[in-house]
Amino acid sequence: MVDIVIVGSVALDTVKTPFGEVKEVLGGAATYSSYAASFFSKPGIVAVVGEDFPSEHLDLLKGKEIDLNGVKKEGKTFRWQGRYEYDMNEAKTLKTELNSFENFEPELPEEYKKTKYVFLANINPELQLQVLEQIEQPEIVMLDTMNLWIQTKKEQLLEVIKKVNVLLMNDSEARQLFETPSLVKAASSALKLGPKHVIIKKGEHGALLFTNNSHFNAPGYPLEVIKDPTGCGDSFAGALIGYLAKSGLDEIRKAIIYGSVVASFNAEDFSLNRLKQISNEDVYSRYKEFEKMREF
Ligand code: AMP
Repeated sequence: MVDIVIVGSVALDTVKTPFGEVKEVLGGAATYSSYAASFFSKPGIVAVVGEDFPSEHLDLLKGKEIDLNGVKKEGKTFRWQGRYEYDMNEAKTLKTELNSFENFEPELPEEYKKTKYVFLANINPELQLQVLEQIEQPEIVMLDTMNLWIQTKKEQLLEVIKKVNVLLMNDSEARQLFETPSLVKAASSALKLGPKHVIIKKGEHGALLFTNNSHFNAPGYPLEVIKDPTGCGDSFAGALIGYLAKSGLDEIRKAIIYGSVVASFNAEDFSLNRLKQISNEDVYSRYKEFEKMREF
């Protein structure tokens, strides 16, 4: 039995930052988010990888007790190529090859259909909807997206947003989707669509949580070494839903801090290289540092 169903990309990424370059390494929204969630709960992934996908990547995920019964294998793996400048809050996409995701028809394993926690991670909103429709009685549904889908599938994206309780976006995507420079206005437009919680990620500067009657502002972790922010948004989301699945929606503020903790580790190296090294104790001790940072 899995605690959380996560649908999203599993990818081979080619990334260049001012601090190095990697080619065809493990990436993807579902990869980062499930790995981050696994520090707290048991996730299962719904995705497709190609025949060319290295089996050691699947072994890494299995080693973290991530369930892969919903991962199909056919065609060629999704690939993403991106670049960052010194301001690493925004990735510049050089190329997206959907490959086997282009005709993917998600079919959930029976045991996933009773799951209460669902994370619709970054992928075509039509696929997100197909997955959500197969879950019998979801309690918490969280959604993330990115500029490509806002540009090409805006209507479908807005339809899915109406069905989720927690909406997650980064600041530039929130401005783009709701056509306003004000994050407060963007959040209030998002709340009108249905989600009870809207979280706006602000890269290294932390995250904002809006509800109809409250506001919470989580700091970013003051990292000295940032090598590659790819997957920070997904790690943030994964740790957040992982912690929610363990502790419930009332603990959403703590979940946001855990999201910031795991995302900050992720930025310290390329691909999942840093996440692979850290333990639950490392996560907890950085969480305690966040607590101290907030005392005044
Ligand atoms: P982020 O957490 O926003 O840095 O997400 C980075 C990950 O998103 C990379 O590992 C990419 O493989 C993946 N990605 C990039 N573009 C897309 C897309 N259009 N749909 C799904 N996943 C994507």
